[in-house]
Amino acid sequence: VQPAQAEGGKKKETKLGLSASKQENFSEWYSELVVSSELISYYDVSGCYILRPWAYAMWEVVQSFFDGKIKAMGVQNAYFPLFITEDVLNTEKDHVEGFAPEVAWVTRCGNAEMDKPIAIRPTSETVMYPYFAQWIRSHRDLPLRLNQWTNVVRWEFKYPTPFIRSREFLWQEGHTAFANQEEANQEVLDILELYRRVYEEILAVPVTKGRKSKKEQFAGAAYTTTVEAFIPETGKGIQGATSHHLGQNFSKMFGIEFEDEERNKVHAWQNSWGLTTRSLGVMIMTHSDNKGLVLPPKAAPKQIVLIPIPNSKTSDEVISEICNKIDTFKRQLEDAGVRVVTDMRLNYTPGWKYNHWELRGVPLRLELGPKDIENKGVVVVRRDTGVKETVSWDDVAARVPQLLDQMQAEMLANATAKYQACIEKVTTWDAFMTALDNKHMVLAPWADEEEVEEDVKKRSVTPDAMGAKTLCIPFNQPELPEGTLCFASGKPAKNWALWGRSY
Ligand code: AMP
Repeated sequence: VQPAQAEGGKKKETKLGLSASKQENFSEWYSELVVSSELISYYDVSGCYILRPWAYAMWEVVQSFFDGKIKAMGVQNAYFPLFITEDVLNTEKDHVEGFAPEVAWVTRCGNAEMDKPIAIRPTSETVMYPYFAQWIRSHRDLPLRLNQWTNVVRWEFKYPTPFIRSREFLWQEGHTAFANQEEANQEVLDILELYRRVYEEILAVPVTKGRKSKKEQFAGAAYTTTVEAFIPETGKGIQGATSHHLGQNFSKMFGIEFEDEERNKVHAWQNSWGLTTRSLGVMIMTHSDNKGLVLPPKAAPKQIVLIPIPNSKTSDEVISEICNKIDTFKRQLEDAGVRVVTDMRLNYTPGWKYNHWELRGVPLRLELGPKDIENKGVVVVRRDTGVKETVSWDDVAARVPQLLDQMQAEMLANATAKYQACIEKVTTWDAFMTALDNKHMVLAPWADEEEVEEDVKKRSVTPDAMGAKTLCIPFNQPELPEGTLCFASGKPAKNWALWGRSY
């Protein structure tokens, strides 16, 4: 008898699974999910979270994809300090105004007040650019393309949510300087495309690429591009990652100048771009269910769990055969590039193990019991659909990678269908409000003016919900017939914007 089984066959193991429901109480469900699945532990500084190994391993997957791609583009990694002096932070006016409310300061050392407080980086434009100014002399020093993988601190006042909005978060920040604007513009788009690929290809999360409105763009940028995701259950959009063109705003303030081929002094054209651990939160919210995490195979730290399912009548000989076979499959699958975990623990029932790994979102489960030994097969179960398939021993190493690919593609396709169904195209204020209240995003023609956006934000507040803002002006624009008017102001429309309530 397995120790985990109590008298009468009833399990006495601790309860697994979630008590809150994704459909009924999303925010409770999410909080419970990230803790129960051992992604996060809460910490005693509000808005800060511990990323446990299961979460960190997913961040490493994102890192390894993105890091490889930017290196292939010619970006180099470096590391700059965490601290910023007040003088330097104040160099670019718009930038510091945008960030000032969220900057955390070190004001004391031991018991002594510091002569001058030191800021903790909320982002590193002002940390890096004084040195760009020293290093860049001639057009031959360009382009300069650096990236760092770090933490940053933004003392956010909005309600914190694990991954999605934290006061300290992990990210990469790219900072680049070019001799001409065309190259810089091109890089903005190349990076944005990589962000799209992180979301869609790795995390199986659909996004819309576009430009941010003036009101929503990065403080100090010439323009900001973004990938925007959406959480249907809450009806909220979320900024996935941003790639900014800084123009010459910072190079003028920091004196980043080079001599061009005609020996003229020219200010460099700059970009900055960042992707954070928020991306994992968006993935978790998108795919997970009431049994726990559902991880797209490419993001999953472990892609398949192998579980022996002996029963009380199974002979020692068969048990040892099951164990050997599991060992063989582990090796075969690892050789095929699959990330495998085996669960050979004796003190838990198979059922308990199923729940345990379902809660952690492992994409596939392979079961092997006495019957399978007779039939020379295994049962493979998909986490997302629960669909079971019998696979013969000879086919395991080939079939599992196929199933993983199929699952990855289907998860993206399903999430995309849901995402698309949440976009409503409207031209009037009333239709706009109805769509928002249906928890949808809204594609609407607008005047592209800051005052209009502010007005929409105020007017769209309801007793139950915050006001809406532009998520982006999608690159992929529907046709805008001559004479189309802004849905909110009645002025001539300049483009279609994607609007929504948002995180
Ligand atoms: P920014 O440097 O402001 O453009 O930020 C880069 C990206 O960081 C944004 O596109 C967001 O996806 C993400 N982000 C912003 N604030 C937070 C936060 N408090 N926690 C996690 N991610 C964040």
